[in-house]
Amino acid sequence: EEPPAAAAVPQAGQDGLVLLRRIGRVDPADLDDYRAQGGYSALRRAFALGPAGVIREVLDAGLVGRGGAAFPTGRKWEATAGRPERTHYLVCNADESEPGTFKDRVLMEGDPYALVEAMTIAGYAVGAHRGYLYLRGEYPRALRRMAHAIGRARARGLLGPDVLGQGYAFDIEIRRGAGAYICGEETAIFNSIEGLRGEPRSKPPFPVERGLFGRPTAVNNVETLVNVLPILERGAAAYASVGTAQSTGTKLFCVSGTVRRPGVYELPFGASLRELVELSGGVPEGRRLRAVLLGGAAGAFVRPDELDIPLTFEGTRAAGATLGSGVVLLLDDTVELPRTLLRIAEFFRDESCGQCVPCRVGTVRQEEALHRIKDLTGAAAAGDIALLREVGAAMRDASICGLGQTAWNAVESAIDRLGVYAGALPGSGPAAGTPADPVDGG
Ligand code: NAD
Ligand code: SF4
Repeated sequence: EEPPAAAAVPQAGQDGLVLLRRIGRVDPADLDDYRAQGGYSALRRAFALGPAGVIREVLDAGLVGRGGAAFPTGRKWEATAGRPERTHYLVCNADESEPGTFKDRVLMEGDPYALVEAMTIAGYAVGAHRGYLYLRGEYPRALRRMAHAIGRARARGLLGPDVLGQGYAFDIEIRRGAGAYICGEETAIFNSIEGLRGEPRSKPPFPVERGLFGRPTAVNNVETLVNVLPILERGAAAYASVGTAQSTGTKLFCVSGTVRRPGVYELPFGASLRELVELSGGVPEGRRLRAVLLGGAAGAFVRPDELDIPLTFEGTRAAGATLGSGVVLLLDDTVELPRTLLRIAEFFRDESCGQCVPCRVGTVRQEEALHRIKDLTGAAAAGDIALLREVGAAMRDASICGLGQTAWNAVESAIDRLGVYAGALPGSGPAAGTPADPVDGG
């Protein structure tokens, strides 16, 4: 079994924890401990508000999805709840397979009843009586703890035919993934649960209309759902008073790479990337920061002179980057970037489900070109960089799902922002020249 997640305990020096507040403080096996630390007060408030009132609170709080795409959660719930079909479903996406993402694991391992309570509230809001927890296959500890929590909640009437004696029936079923990255894509999850080949469906129709077993389905990431607890406990206005107008609340960031204190950090939206890098101790002593990969393999590299980027959805977008699922991967000056790019390209080639041509062929061509560039210089490399741009544009424009659409993002940003092949290709350096403001570990 894998070792415990790197930050099962919140990092030192952090105040204002909301999502991580019980991690390391609550016994993950003990329902009474969870209740003694505020557990199940949000569900009680949900029953007092009614489904429409819960959705109103979530809309007013400005909660957007934390899986990576930042779609407004309240709108998703409203659309699902409003469908006329008798059966609605809730799916919690706990597949968490974006390289460098491990926040949902910390939540599930450290505070499993929080997710059970949050799924119950979400199910109530969207009119679902069954929720599926689609759990990454490589998370055996999270599986054990979630299964235990679901069993205990059921035994105590917090799941089942009459939740909290309120006449609402809801239960949760766990389904495990089997190691395929693409099965974290929401419609591929439906296929996986239904016993079909794990590949995405075309959208639209969106899951809110036609999802699991063809029924209206709300699909939410673990972190998104856990945010519903403070929204209901504290009220939408108090929740939205943290962060910025467009990115409300706090965010979990997964800091990894060549960094002194890797782990999961919770910060209010609006903190800068520099603050987060400093909180994590920066790169090891005597090294210099070369780049930060923001948003994961589908994200973008940023330079050390760009560390003042605000960590908000709008701020990263304006800077031509993305927050994605909260990946912050530090790379110091000992890292060979061309090897990192090759590893990313290999990952996408390997994980492409092969359903559509732009991605199936494009990810192979991308990896081949990067292999060639590594060994070439000058005009020959320029030809391959032009090819990469052409293939990247085709993947972005014509792929069915996010995997193909984003498979060229990181490589493109490494070429354009970091000037990774500048030595082989005079004149193709980063827009702002040599990093002017490195964060080093000294
Ligand atoms: P998307 O933009 O297609 O959709 C986001 C969500 O909004 C989906 O649930 C979708 O159904 C819903 N939606 C969008 N438009 C809608 C509409 N008009 N009506 C109703 N619902 C609507 O993005 P996606 O392909 O689901 O996700 C892409 C993101 O996933 C990327 O940002 C990537 O970073 C992230 N990702 C995360 C992980 C992880 O491990 N957390 C892994 C891979 C990718
Ligand atoms: Fe499959 Fe890639 Fe097409 Fe997505 S973009 S459906 S992963 S081949």
